[in-house]
Formats: sequence, C-alpha cells, structure tokens
Amino acid sequence: MSNPVLVIGAGVAGMTAAIELADSGVKTVLVEELSTTGGNALDLYKAFPTDDCFYCFEGNRWRPGIRKCFYRSALIDQPNIDLKMNSRVEEISGNPGNFGIVLAIGPQYIDPMKCTLCGLCLEKSKSFSLVSVQCQPQAVIYNPDSRDEGTQIAAKECPTQAINLDAQASKETITVSDIIIATGFHEMKPSAIDEYGYGTHPNIITQLELAKLLDPNGPSGGVLLRPSDGDPARRVMMIQCVGSRDENYYPYCSKICCIFALKHANILTRERENVGVSVVYMDIRTYDRYERYYRETRESGVEYIRGRVSRVTPQEDGSLSIVVYDSLLNTYLRFSADLFVLSSALEPSAGSGHIIETLRLKSASGFIGPLSADDPVVVGNHVFACGTALGPAEVPESVTQARAVVSKILQSRK
Ligand SMILES: Cc1cc2nc3c(=O)[nH]c(=O)nc-3n(C[C@H](O)[C@H](O)[C@H](O)COP(=O)(O)OP(=O)(O)OC[C@H]3O[C@@H](n4cnc5c(N)ncnc54)[C@H](O)[C@@H]3O)c2cc1C
Ligand code: SF4
Ligand code: SF4
Repeated sequence: MSNPVLVIGAGVAGMTAAIELADSGVKTVLVEELSTTGGNALDLYKAFPTDDCFYCFEGNRWRPGIRKCFYRSALIDQPNIDLKMNSRVEEISGNPGNFGIVLAIGPQYIDPMKCTLCGLCLEKSKSFSLVSVQCQPQAVIYNPDSRDEGTQIAAKECPTQAINLDAQASKETITVSDIIIATGFHEMKPSAIDEYGYGTHPNIITQLELAKLLDPNGPSGGVLLRPSDGDPARRVMMIQCVGSRDENYYPYCSKICCIFALKHANILTRERENVGVSVVYMDIRTYDRYERYYRETRESGVEYIRGRVSRVTPQEDGSLSIVVYDSLLNTYLRFSADLFVLSSALEPSAGSGHIIETLRLKSASGFIGPLSADDPVVVGNHVFACGTALGPAEVPESVTQARAVVSKILQSRK
C-alpha cells in the first residue's frame, strides 16, 4: 500500500486537498498547529464573490447526502484523514516519495469525540473557550495559561469526561510519499507605520478586526460599535495599501485587500443604518468579477479619495481626526471618523521560512515559490503548495490550487 500524503495546514486550501485526496482513497495526514481547522476563513463573516456567510466554508464542495450548511463534516467523518490538531512538523528527512516526518503533537486536553459543546466548562472557567460555533472539530479549546479556580471544577463536572488537564505532548514518526504545504498567510499588524497609529488607539483597526465587528457571532453581535467606548460608529475611513506596495515592508500588491475592503464598505452602507464610508486609495484593484463591488459601493455613496493619510489624532470625544493628502486636488483635507480601518498586507505565515529552508525550496517574497511559472503548485520533487502559502489569493483560487495538487498526486499514483 502507498504511503500517506502529508498536508501541513488545515485552512481552506489544506482541508480541500486532504478531503479530495481522502475521497479518492488516498490516506492523508493533516497537521494543524491550532486547535481548530479553518485558518483565516473562520474570521471572515461574509465571503466574496457570493456574499454567503463564511461559517460553512468547509462546504465549498458539495457532497451527496450532506446539506450545503454542514451539520456533518467532510473532514471529521472521512476515515482516510488522520487529523492532528495542536501539532507541528518538527523534522523532515528521507527522499522525495519516501519522506520521514517527525511530528510534535501538542497535549490533547479536550477529546473532540466526547465533547458535546454543552457549555458547562465555559461557564465555570475562562481557561475554556469556543473559537466559533462552526468550529471543526466540534469542541471547546483549553488554554492552560488562563487556568483559574474554575478549571478543575469544570474538568470534574464535564458530563462526558471530555477534559484531561494532565494531557502531555508527544512525538510521532511517519513516512509519507508527498508533502503539501498549505500554511497560509497572516494579516500584517502595522504597528511600525507611525502615521496610521495602529496599536495606539482602540478605534484604529485592521480589516480582519472589522470583520469580527460585523459578525453577528462577534463581540458586539454584529452591531458596529466603537471599541473605545461602545458608542455607535457612524463614520468609517479605510486606507488601502498598508504595508503592501511599500519597499519598507512588502513590495508586492496583496491582490485581494481592495476587494475585501470594498466588500466591507458594501456591507456597511447597505446593511447598516446611517454609516458613511470613505476609502483612501492609490489604485483600486478589483479585478475580474470583483469590479461589481466598486460599482455597488459607488452607488451606495462610498466616498473615494485618491491620496495618502498623513496623520491620525485621537479626539477627546472618542473620534479620530484624520489628515489626508488628496493627490487629485493636490491639497490636504481633514476628516473626522469613528473607526479608521487599515487594509493591511497579507504576509507569509510564520513557519514558511523554516519550511523553505528545510526542503530547500524557492522563496517568492517569503511565500513558497514555484519551481517553474508554468506549474505554480509544484514547488519541489514530490512537494506541492496551494492557497495563500504561495502568495495572496482568494478562497476560490486557493481551492482551485488545492485541486490541482490533488490531481497531480493522483496521476503520479496511477
Ligand atoms: C480581511 C480579509 C477578508 C477576506 N475575505 C475574503 C472573502 O470574502 N472571500 C475570499 O474568497 N477570500 C477572502 N479572504 C482571503 C482568505 O482568507 C484566503 O483566501 C483563505 O483563508 C486562504 O486559505 P489558506 O488555507 O490558503 O490559508 P489560511 O487560512 O491562512 O490557513 C492556513 C492554516 O495553516 C495553519 N498553519 C500555518 N503554519 C503551520 C505550520 N507550520 N504547521 C501546521 N499548521 C500551520 C494555520 O494555523 C491555518 O489554519 C480574506 C482575507 C482577509 C485578510
Ligand atoms: S463541559 Fe465537557 S462536554 Fe461540555 S463543552 Fe466543556 S468539554 Fe465539552
Ligand atoms: S489589492 Fe489594493 S489595497 Fe491591496 S495592495 Fe493591491 S492596490 Fe493596495
């Protein structure tokens, strides 16, 4: 029997690759460093291009017998997938087609097969939390650093005995035929860019943080409130190209930040009452079908200002005074806003550098580089990458790349 395939990272790309390989009869080991799968897609609320909710992102593929909104999971219910949560690849040795892998498996404090999400532990102690109502595996997570007096009580009273506070880390060695890198991206935290003031005032946030504020399951129940004082936020200013197209940070265009900014501007002006949005930009890049967001936001009254923000000053009433250089009018303008939202660069995930070094792969501005431009998902001999591990991409593109990898592996096994 052939060796299994290793997939590193259980975001949309890694999950798609693992599920489709497994459905084709290939054993797959899916390694995820966090306690829940989904990666960045867990936090996006609504998704372009269709504006569907993102909770059922796993349902980007339809399976007979399972509704689009999943109450069963293609990932958890698939016996060919060995899902390793809280885990990392520690060592890679051997040869292409026959890699030796040492996995560092984190302590498995909660048994997802036993947890019924009854919520008792969440009431007893802050050391337990629920990442998302749609999380997979369907289980709470435990953070030992937040341990308090309620922790032991919760473990004792858990009705299904799903909690093991003494769980220990372990190691496992496996042999795999192919490696798929799906380690994704991070949204840059732009604290170093002084003029935008990120980190100095709670009403200066990133687009990913705005997505949380818009989410009905988020901290404000989807009502747009100023984080500083909980007052309604009526005026929102967005700034594009934060850390992208900037030689001091990332020289590349992050490709999708115009689209997600305009998606949010559309939600704010069409689905919330009395919210005004201004977008400060250098260029608006809503390629292909995403041009509709530009048209729709124009129609719904979003104000576009070509220029750069030069200063943000918090005011006593909790608002922000923002000075913008308007490059079309060649003048400085002053605005008042309740929220200043930064469209931050998509940067390579933290472990990319280590993987590139260990497997001697090419780097493309810190993302995984393809061996040849003709075949973007092939990054080494029996080594593939898909999704945002290769660079900024939307979900449809990430899924298409994952399927391209699956097709290559299946062909090589014929
Ligand atoms: C604000 C914002 C809004 C967006 N809105 C949309 C939208 O509406 N529609 C759309 O199509 N796209 C949208 N996107 C893009 C979307 O988030 C990505 O296309 C998608 O999440 C990419 O999935 P991925 O699997 O490649 O990466 P990720 O989601 O980053 O997943 C990578 C996974 O790998 C894990 N991982 C990383 N390193 C390791 C390691 N060393 N070992 C083990 N595991 C590891 C991570 O924990 C994570 O779970 C948006 C992005 C942002 C920032
Ligand atoms: S008490 Fe037990 S079953 Fe209930 S949510 Fe917590 S871990 Fe899950
Ligand atoms: S997608 Fe738009 S905001 Fe993002 S870097 Fe490119 S031009 Fe700037």
